Amino acid sequence: MDRRSGGETKCAGAPCAVAPVPTAERIPKETTLHRIVVVGGGAAGLELVTRLGDRLGRCSRASVTLVECARRTHVWKPLLHAVAAGSLDPNGYEVNYLAQAHWHGFRYRFGEMVGLDRTRKQVHLAGTFDEDGRQITASRSIGYDTLVIAIGSVTNDFGTPGIAEHAVPLETPAQAERFNRRMLNACLRAQTQAGPVRPGQLHVAIVGAGATGSELAAELHRTLREVVTFGLDRINPERDIHIVLIEAADRILPALPQRISTATHRLLQEIGVEVRTGARVTAATGEGLRLADGSFVASELLVWAAGVKAPDVLRHLDGLEVNRINQLVVEPTLESTRDPDIFAIGDCAACPRRGNSGTVPPRAQAAHQQAAHMARQIERRLRGLPLLPYVYRDFGSLVSLGRWTTVGNLMGFLSGRSVFVEGLFAQLMYRSLRLVHERALGGTRRAILGVIARALARRTGPLVKLH
Ligand SMILES: Cc1cc2nc3c(=O)[nH]c(=O)nc-3n(C[C@H](O)[C@H](O)[C@H](O)COP(=O)(O)OP(=O)(O)OC[C@H]3O[C@@H](n4cnc5c(N)ncnc54)[C@H](O)[C@@H]3O)c2cc1C
Repeated sequence: MDRRSGGETKCAGAPCAVAPVPTAERIPKETTLHRIVVVGGGAAGLELVTRLGDRLGRCSRASVTLVECARRTHVWKPLLHAVAAGSLDPNGYEVNYLAQAHWHGFRYRFGEMVGLDRTRKQVHLAGTFDEDGRQITASRSIGYDTLVIAIGSVTNDFGTPGIAEHAVPLETPAQAERFNRRMLNACLRAQTQAGPVRPGQLHVAIVGAGATGSELAAELHRTLREVVTFGLDRINPERDIHIVLIEAADRILPALPQRISTATHRLLQEIGVEVRTGARVTAATGEGLRLADGSFVASELLVWAAGVKAPDVLRHLDGLEVNRINQLVVEPTLESTRDPDIFAIGDCAACPRRGNSGTVPPRAQAAHQQAAHMARQIERRLRGLPLLPYVYRDFGSLVSLGRWTTVGNLMGFLSGRSVFVEGLFAQLMYRSLRLVHERALGGTRRAILGVIARALARRTGPLVKLH
């Protein structure tokens, strides 16, 4: 086992003044500390372990462990459309798990949860391997007293033929960067090929006109043109580049109020994005998309941004209850319905919504709120106090349409009514969402320094990623 590449030896020494940290992966049963294990270090899980580490881990009131399967860093998912379009370099936004654990009093364990033993209170992790197939970490089990599952969601392609092979989803930074590389390669190919640009070449089809698809369409419209200005003179943007946004519902942004949908649709059409509503994709090929009405959308680049589900592993977690999209069914207290020691937060949790027949929507603000609530809940649990229900507060929704505008609705605090916003104010509110997340992870000073550092970095390089 190559321990250096896994970073596990460093990780074992990470927490601050907690009781002696075991070097083995399995936390010994005889530890006197309450063992809190959080699986998934995304918007919800990473905020949760940071809070718990600060409040309980540092002062040895509990042992806090994060299990995370993705790369060694966290990038906030709502930034991924900008990574895909090349307008944002993820390096400036990454939070390193090892460093975060070291600074905030929790342990980070690299690995994918593949199973659970509720009787023995153990989470099973698969072994991990590097790009050359060398093992990084062996498969192992981690014991818990309180387990919080926060493994988010993945794209749901509803089994549509050809999507997995030909379309790129935007679930991870790696996928967003992969799409961006495809886009740059497509531009270089068009610039250097012998013949003229073919029909469908340099066309992008985005399936799903929710916030992600609509934001990506606007952002790509700009960045593709920006790339071409760097000497790719054989490409004529007006003639060759084409973006089509495809939505099965009868309007784009179907989950948001009509006014936001109308404003976004109008803006996208004005800048030249083709919007096709009421269009259901039945298959994808290497050349484009087949629609239910029999038509074919020729397109070299395909993005699938329609629908989410929770990861399949949740279906087989020792009998925990899941709904039809694999989410763990939880009580309003965030406890799983079948085990009071197991909780779920974020996109992977089906949490009842007060005053509403549905569940809390899979959104960043819900992940943030649930992380804060869960941290308080665990402190109450340790003190033997009854758990409190989580109540979702909808602050509204904002859709950023690149440099053109931002539109959305904000919920009035007193009236409880939705207020339509757009322009600079909406843009500032949109950016503040990311700042709230960064502040939860690193405090106010670090969040502000990050903003300044990135503003300076933007002045020293191209506004679009070119590699
Ligand atoms: C492109 C895009 C744009 C978005 N834009 C917005 C927006 O503008 N506004 C908004 O409110 N919401 C937005 N969302 C939704 C928002 O990002 C999610 O609601 C939020 O990230 C959910 O947080 P989470 O912690 O539940 O899941 P995630 O942030 O997805 O984190 C889950 C973590 O669990 C890890 N994991 C998964 N499986 C395992 C496993 N088996 N073992 C160990 N670790 C595992 C993953 O690697 C990941 O780090 C967007 C989502 C996407 C994909």
